Parts: sequence; structure tokens; C-alpha cells
Amino acid sequence: CGIVGYVGSPVASARPLEVVIEGLRRLEYRGYDSAGVALVGPSGVLATAKKAGKLANLVEEIDAHPLPDATAAIGHTRWATHGGPTDVNAHPHVAGDLAVIHNGIVENFAVLKAQLVADGVEFASETDTEVVAHLLARAYTETGDLTTAMGRVARALEGTFTLLAVHAAVPDTVVGARHDSPLVVGLGTGENFLGSDVAAFIAHTREALELGQDQVVTITPDEVRVTDFDGVPAQARRYTVDWDAAA
Ligand code: GLU
Repeated sequence: CGIVGYVGSPVASARPLEVVIEGLRRLEYRGYDSAGVALVGPSGVLATAKKAGKLANLVEEIDAHPLPDATAAIGHTRWATHGGPTDVNAHPHVAGDLAVIHNGIVENFAVLKAQLVADGVEFASETDTEVVAHLLARAYTETGDLTTAMGRVARALEGTFTLLAVHAAVPDTVVGARHDSPLVVGLGTGENFLGSDVAAFIAHTREALELGQDQVVTITPDEVRVTDFDGVPAQARRYTVDWDAAA
């Protein structure tokens, strides 16, 4: 129900996790039943934590089992549509070294899941979202590029989605896509943000890019690239969030 993404330039720090937890807190008003985060950093390891219930449960879990310093992070609050509100069904969903979070519904997940299962893929959760993790991991292996992989997978999905993904092999990058569900970029200096809503990053920047329908966005500490699902460069609307909208 809420989505936050962050990437920053220090080699590794606690900031990615702090920004994402703070962003999720500011999105709590939207309601949710579970929360989770995924981090990637120069260690080359993907780290995740996820919990059913309040954000406080996730924070408690992270306090008990600290996550490594990172360069990029994604965070999610879930409003379950497919699969009950359990720890396992909470996002992120992981396939190999890749993690994905999703707002919305993948209407054709059953067909996609059947194909993956036939190929020997094992599923951990009951969500519609997990197909996206497996498809993205496969597309990344085939293309070697997370942005291209995201566009390819987004084309195969029916339904509504805001998606964010990180991969341990590209710890300076977060990739997102949207179809019938919002995604906004927050423009920083040496760092960039993503949110389902500007509230996710308003504590850090008011300079924003509103992604258009069927766009893919790739953020690194110093760059924001927007394309359509076919990889053709595209324009997103730039604006400054005014004080009233942020209150
Ligand atoms: N359909 C997904 C699920 O049930 C995402 C729900 C959401 O938007 O939070 O896990």
C-alpha cells in the first residue's frame, strides 16, 4: 500500500534504511497489514526483513537482527489482496539476489505462476507478487540489465502495479515501473528517492518527477533515467511539491 526507495552515494551507511523506515512511517496513514525492507550494498549481499503487523514489529525485528550498511534500499507496507497477512507473504519477495516490492494486483499471476512452476521454480508465498520476483530475476540473468529486465517483465503483467526492485549485483541502483498505480521520484544531491506518494520523501526533498503511465525509472545516486516499457527514453513531469501539499 506504500512504497519507498532510496539510493545514496556514501560507500555504505545506515541512511538508506533510515530514509526508508521514515518514509514508511509517513505512509502509515494509508493503512497496511505488514511491512518490509530490502537493502543492497558493496558487500554484494541482499538483506531483507519483513513482518506482519505494525511497522513497529519490523523495527523491533531489525533491532534484534541488525541489517548491514547499504547504498540502496526499498521499503513496503502491504495491504494484502492475494495471500493472508503473514510474515512470508509480506514484501519484499526474493528470487536469488533480487528483491521486489509491489503495490496493486497482478491479474494474470496464476498463468505466470503455472509456467514458472512447470519450469521448476519454487514459490515461498501465496502472493500474486512473487511471480514478479522470479520473472525479474530470470530477465536480469538473460539481459544483464535491471532496467531492461523491468520493462520486459512489466510488459508481461496484467493488472495494476507500482514495482520497485534491487539486485545485489547493482548496489547503486533502484529500478521502478508503474501501470495504473502512482510512482514519484524525489530528486536529491548525491542521492535520489522513490515513493508511491511524495510523503515518502518530503522530509528530504521537494523536487519531484511524476512518472507517466507505463514508464520505467532507474535511479542511481547521481542520475534518474525514465523510459517506456520498451526502453525508449521518455519524459516525466517535473515539479516542486508545495508546502500545503506536504503538510
Ligand atoms: N497484491 C499484492 C499482495 O497482496 C500487493 C498488495 C499491496 O498493494 O500492498 O501482496
